Amino acid sequence: MDFIIAANVLMNSRNSSLLLKSMSSLLNAKGISKSFGEISVLNHLDFQLSHGEFVAITGASGSGKSTLLHILGGLEYPDSGTIEFENALYPRGGKEIELFRNRYLGFVFQFHHLLPEFSALENICMPGWIGKNKDTEIYAKELAEEFGLTNRLNHLPSHLSGGEQQRVAMARALVTRPKLLLADEPSGNLDSKRSKELFDLLDQVRLSKSVGIVVVTHSENWASSVDRTLNLSDGKWGV
Ligand code: ADP
Ligand code: MG
Repeated sequence: MDFIIAANVLMNSRNSSLLLKSMSSLLNAKGISKSFGEISVLNHLDFQLSHGEFVAITGASGSGKSTLLHILGGLEYPDSGTIEFENALYPRGGKEIELFRNRYLGFVFQFHHLLPEFSALENICMPGWIGKNKDTEIYAKELAEEFGLTNRLNHLPSHLSGGEQQRVAMARALVTRPKLLLADEPSGNLDSKRSKELFDLLDQVRLSKSVGIVVVTHSENWASSVDRTLNLSDGKWGV
């Protein structure tokens, strides 16, 4: 009984670092370098993330934040370095990385990239259908309820507000029950109230679903509210 109370207190506490410390490694990137032609963008970067940990990456425009996120998400490959997911090397290329991404990773971008001719519900379900997951529609509706979207599910993206579109994009990213969510400036187009709402939802998600989250953000509020913030500067972690 005492243990359950203690666990609940821990789960509900704003800073769950104690809990996180006891968790195993989700992502371990070592010595990541990437150049585009003459431009060296990432320079021997290391990056670790635990299950359910929420980390923000900040940095000036052009500092390589999106490139790093794409590499962590298997959308691009580093010139050198390794990435391990739950202690196994990332697959590289082909069908394997597509399956891996569909099964374990979720993506949210600054522009929601919802498919305009499909309803909100269909958009949320899409990765689950692609992955041939059986309970996709049921889980999509559960997520929609959690994100306050139940009454908007039959609408096309163009009929939703910016905040709703971004919540649909987030539900879509989570419908396959990923272990890692990568978000590139997800609140970039939202006003401060909607931005705070989106942050609170992400924070709730990582606790309730134990999803590790890496978010690229320019928001000082977000950067000061996550477990850890890293600043990218000249392809290295700055202070
Ligand atoms: P950020 O997200 O921090 O603004 P990016 O990762 O998008 O930065 O870009 C970092 C640098 O890499 C920039 O100089 C950008 O022009 C360059 N870059 C990014 N992607 C490519 C690409 N596919 N081809 C060539 N240069 C690129
Ligand atoms: Mg970027």
